[in-house]
Amino acid sequence: MSNNDNIDRRRFLAGGAAAATAACLSDTAAAQTSDYVIDAPQAVSMEVVGTDRRFPVRRVYCLGRNYRAHAIESGDDPDVNPPFFFIKPRDAVIDYRDGFPYPPMTEALRYEGELVVALKSGGSNIDPADALEHVYGYGVGLDMTRQDLQQVAQSLSRPWAISKSFDKSAPCGPLHPVETHGHAVSGRIWLSVNGVVRQDSDLDFQRWSVPEGISILSQYYELTAGDIIMTGTPENIGLVTKGDVMNIGIDGLGEIEVRVT
Ligand code: MN
Repeated sequence: MSNNDNIDRRRFLAGGAAAATAACLSDTAAAQTSDYVIDAPQAVSMEVVGTDRRFPVRRVYCLGRNYRAHAIESGDDPDVNPPFFFIKPRDAVIDYRDGFPYPPMTEALRYEGELVVALKSGGSNIDPADALEHVYGYGVGLDMTRQDLQQVAQSLSRPWAISKSFDKSAPCGPLHPVETHGHAVSGRIWLSVNGVVRQDSDLDFQRWSVPEGISILSQYYELTAGDIIMTGTPENIGLVTKGDVMNIGIDGLGEIEVRVT
């Protein structure tokens, strides 16, 4: 590239920035974002039952193989290996009503129905006896998984991030505040596809209970208000495809319907 090309390129970029600024200043929200050199990413939040106010999401932690029978069907030995954690990006959380778009680059899309725990406070090294004090509420969610990419990653001993942490991979229902609904620590959890029940278990079968999960997670990360934890799926995971309708429910937390679009 010649010097002249460089100068032209700089002029072009400067012109583009000026146009963007002009567009921005015409926006009534410009004052709120003027501290940033680009538009700020959109906040992510979840619906809360009984109020128009929403729960802002900071991080999405997930528990893997937190039900014994699911650990076994995944080829793990629950007598030897404990559950474990992974993370999804916060904007993986979407409203269940929006539908779940079949993700690109996969030919095997798996459902995992899960209990979602939302924190109103946090800390490090939280005692299990104190853990529930940090819970704001509970909801129903899906940990959607690109199963084919996960299997490739596992067979090559590579990280499985793209199989779990992809766009919109966590459709969730509304949160039920502890204040009005109490703690969801036991009860039936189920998932059906096109009206046929596929997963049918109970929160009692979680290997790490909610307080245990919070406590152990807080040994690795400093938890804060806005963190949510997807607490793992029971056995009988399976695949869905475009057009399928999933219904996921937990006793006391209602049922959500998510269509694969
Ligand atoms: Mn899961």
